[in-house]
Amino acid sequence: MSARLDCPLCGAVVVDGVADIAPGACPSCGARYEGGEGSAPDAVRAAIAAFGGDAQDAPALTDAVFRLGPADSAECGVAITSDSRDDFYRWWLFVRPMGDGEPLTAIAALIRA
Ligand SMILES: [Zn+2]
Repeated sequence: MSARLDCPLCGAVVVDGVADIAPGACPSCGARYEGGEGSAPDAVRAAIAAFGGDAQDAPALTDAVFRLGPADSAECGVAITSDSRDDFYRWWLFVRPMGDGEPLTAIAALIRA
């Protein structure tokens, strides 16, 4: 079993060749990533919980993040992606902390936009 995850915000390889992927931060741009669930809505819900947010925001954030093009994601610092594994994949939410260093600020800004 070998898993790989690329950062959707800067394109860097976050992890590669590992047995499993744990939440962490992109070594290139510093974006935090959380989730690791089998569906995108579940990954978004897990990520919001990990960042200390309100799970009620999960549907709105899932909807918003899939509307983002690459340029939009780079600007707002939020993106969702899936890793690659031998025969399945898991979803991860990447959030690059904005001015105050708080992932929830970037998430709230995206939901309100
Ligand atoms: Zn990155």
